[in-house]
Order: sequence, then C-alpha cells, then structure tokens
Amino acid sequence: MRKKLIAANWKMYKTPDEAKTFVKEFIPLVSGQKHADIVLCASPTLLPAVVDATRNNPIRVSAQDMHWMDQGAYTGETSPLMLKALGVTHVLIGHSERRQYFNETDESVNLKLKSALAHGLTPIVCVGELLAERESNQTEEVLVRQTSIGLSGIDASAAAPIVIAYEPVWAIGTGRTATPEIAQDAHRIIREQVAKILGGEVAAAMRILYGGSVKPDNTGSLCACADIDGALVGGASLDPKSFAAIVAGSAV
Ligand code: PEP
Repeated sequence: MRKKLIAANWKMYKTPDEAKTFVKEFIPLVSGQKHADIVLCASPTLLPAVVDATRNNPIRVSAQDMHWMDQGAYTGETSPLMLKALGVTHVLIGHSERRQYFNETDESVNLKLKSALAHGLTPIVCVGELLAERESNQTEEVLVRQTSIGLSGIDASAAAPIVIAYEPVWAIGTGRTATPEIAQDAHRIIREQVAKILGGEVAAAMRILYGGSVKPDNTGSLCACADIDGALVGGASLDPKSFAAIVAGSAV
C-alpha cells in the first residue's frame, strides 16, 4: 500500500512573507488529514521561511532543483549541503521547465539523483513527453529513456526514497490535463521500467505522482488509478484553499 504524496510546485512565485501567509492559512485546512504526505517545493530564497513556518508539522519542504556537487565554483547554484543545512528534506529533479529552459539532461538528472540519495534528500524525479513526442507515438520510448538514464547506476538497496513524477509537458500549465487512462498508461510504463532496472519489489513500493494541470475537480479521478500515487501541482498549489482541496481530493 503506497501512501499518497501531494507536492506543491510554486515555481518562481511568492515572496517569503507570501509563503509564510500561505503556510499559516494552509495548515489548519489539512490538519486532520492522514492519507497523504504533503511537500511544498519552493525557490531557494523562500526555503528558510517555509521550513520555519512548517516546524513541528508533518508538511515537508523541497527545493525545486540543486547542483550535484557539495560545493565549488558554480555561481548561482545551490548544493545539497546547503539544502540540508536549512532543514529541507526533498528536492525536485529534472522538472520539464529545467529541461526546456536550463539545459537539464537525463545525464544531469542522474547525477543529481545520486547526489540527493547520498545526502539523504528525497528526490522527486520528473519525466514526461513533449506534445510532438506523444503525437508521433514516441511516449513510451521517451519515458523508458528518461527513466533508464535517470536511474542508471542506482543500487536497488538505496532506491526506496525515490519518487517519480510523470508530467506530460503538454499538460503543464496548459489546463489540458491527461485523462486518467492516458496518465495510468504512462505510470504503468514507468513502473514496469523501474521494475526492469531496480526489481519488482522496489517498483511496487515506489511512488509515482502525476503532474499537469491538476485541479481540485480532477484529483480524485487521477488518484483513483492503480499506478497513480499522488500529484505534483503547479498553478493550483499557489492558493492554500485550492491546494488543500487537492490534498482532500486525493483520498480515494
Ligand atoms: C508543475 O509545475 O509541475 C505543474 C504540473 O504545473 P501545473 O499544475 O500548473 O500544470
């Protein structure tokens, strides 16, 4: 039985004060729920405020990216040691906006994943096909490639913390959510690939989230699918009521 995980990706939104206000309003809205883990993925300047505001609460805090090195001459980058020192527990890796605008590759995803695991950060690794790839029947090939290179060289005994987020690029920020059938099919492909690489036991326990225009009214039908274990939510996570409704909607 995999516990649901609902993660907010705030992208490049909010100031520290706005982040604190969000958490203050959000905590009472989800305080009774036990069915899902909740993670807030915030930009680096917000992390101290969000860690502070969620202290003594099961809500966890995630970075949206990190470098794989501990330290060095990498201007503008954030290292796993820096995230750990702040009390951050999770890190998004390979979000499609990082792949699209900042040259993230399957190879850099793999380096970051290994680094996150080595430092005890829970990695949320994003995969997903472009619209052109779906339309030319390449979805399976893309998901298999991203999953295989992303997970390459990972030992099954160290893989338990890994979370994968299937985010079809055509569904991110477009209002065009994948149908539950399309999403379930992609999740099945990813889980089968994880099984090939890391074994059936690891694959059966691994949480695979869906992301792409998740809203309160479509969360239930997506989260009811056999291989969908929660959601990575962008736009609809910026408002505490909407995000709390998504958390509630994932109890299926
Ligand atoms: C995301 O940022 O990962 C995302 C899925 O965005 P949205 O929910 O806005 O499509």
